[in-house]
Amino acid sequence: MGSASSSETCDVLVVGGGPAGSTAAALLARQGRKVVLVEKVHHPRFHIGESLLPANVRLFDQLGLRSELERIGMRKWGIEFISPEHAHSSFLEFGDAWDKSVPYAWQVRRSVLDEMLFRHAASCGAQAIEGCRVTQVDFDADGVSAQALMKDGTPRHWRARYLMDASGRDTILAAKMGCKRKNEAHGSAAIFGHFVNARRLEGRLEGNISIFWFPHGWFWFIPLSDGSTSVGAVCWPYYLKSRSKPLREFFADTIALAPALQERLRDATLIDDMVYATGNYSYASTHACGERHALLGDAFAFIDPVFSSGVYFAMRSAFGAAELAATELDHPERAAAARRSYRELAHKGPKEFSWFIYRMTNPSMRELFMHPKNTLRVKEALLSLLAGDIHGSTPIWRALWLFKAIYYMTWLRAAPTAFRAWRDRRRNVAQVGPTEGENVLVER
Ligand SMILES: Cc1cc2nc3c(=O)[nH]c(=O)nc-3n(C[C@H](O)[C@H](O)[C@H](O)COP(=O)(O)OP(=O)(O)OC[C@H]3O[C@@H](n4cnc5c(N)ncnc54)[C@H](O)[C@@H]3O)c2cc1C
Repeated sequence: MGSASSSETCDVLVVGGGPAGSTAAALLARQGRKVVLVEKVHHPRFHIGESLLPANVRLFDQLGLRSELERIGMRKWGIEFISPEHAHSSFLEFGDAWDKSVPYAWQVRRSVLDEMLFRHAASCGAQAIEGCRVTQVDFDADGVSAQALMKDGTPRHWRARYLMDASGRDTILAAKMGCKRKNEAHGSAAIFGHFVNARRLEGRLEGNISIFWFPHGWFWFIPLSDGSTSVGAVCWPYYLKSRSKPLREFFADTIALAPALQERLRDATLIDDMVYATGNYSYASTHACGERHALLGDAFAFIDPVFSSGVYFAMRSAFGAAELAATELDHPERAAAARRSYRELAHKGPKEFSWFIYRMTNPSMRELFMHPKNTLRVKEALLSLLAGDIHGSTPIWRALWLFKAIYYMTWLRAAPTAFRAWRDRRRNVAQVGPTEGENVLVER
């Protein structure tokens, strides 16, 4: 540790020790670079976002962490969909995707996963500092200066050659640069808690995520390996704002709007009586990287949790940003091309997923998920997208276009209902207020 006032130096300063920051720090430290990873709180810390994608598995392999994930995670082979308008449940399995080589992912408690990734970065050689909030960053011709404050009030100051913003929804660079934009096409809020004794699927399917639609959005039901189950409602922000009673009662009332879920929770109790709520979090930055800096994971964009893509995008962007930083530091003459590639990577995930996210509450989309058919391999392509297999060479794009065409035909066939859902969605989006930072409200 340097003295309180002296400036410390490093090649890369990474702000934020979540999945994005810890992954980037590990990759750069493994290259022998002097990396400092700064996290404002102490691990293990609570975070929501417990369902991972098969595409994550390859990234954990590259980090050498698959066996750790097998130890802490619960295998997730697919997704169960439950709709109030259908008598049956629909099961989609990742093993039926176009590329069948990674048929599962994991459900993980994020406090455990994030601590593991943070300690892994340290074991790779990064200086990993907890309880230290970066309060200001300034760029100049030679590099970047960062001011930070330790929890006990001690100031720290770094000079770095490169800065990675992995500060999640705090979006420190996007806020500084004024390039954070509310998503005009979407809005989303959530209320959630953890239960014991929830009735899960049986056997091999126990670790699957279940999605229950209800009148104001949808619920997740995520079984964790310690026996607890994470349950959350993702709803329009207006619905959360309509709350006139304590969060816990409001959550119970909301669960009652999804009778099939309520039935699974009949004998369940909330752990520690804790319920969390978070306001509109759908946003993106117009800027992904520039000279000596990159925005990673949620510090760049977040749309909606419905397809469990957040941790994957965060880690995938970290792999891309680590490559970008290495190029910029070692071969500045190639920096412009490297930045173009990183911009493409950062935009691709949110862009490909958003078409599906925006339509997820439309009855026509529900119909396709409840009766999935593999005409011309559209189901395989859809499953590949849901598995996060969008950054490689799996040739899913023609079949995904076909899926979209089938969706529009289904929409036309059910035009009055589909139109009403479309119009309600438009109204709901118009009512959405500004995005809120890391404003998790907790009630016990
Ligand atoms: C309701 C909800 C449900 C979700 N469900 C899922 C899911 O099932 N699956 C999934 O993959 N994703 C899910 N997500 C998304 C997922 O949680 C995020 O996309 C993911 O955590 C992003 O990782 P990150 O590393 O970019 O940011 P984070 O995990 O948020 O990490 C950022 C870190 O930066 C630290 N930090 C912030 N500011 C500073 C500062 N100034 N100085 C130092 N440190 C700082 C924070 O303390 C934090 O630890 C969900 C999101 C929401 C809102």
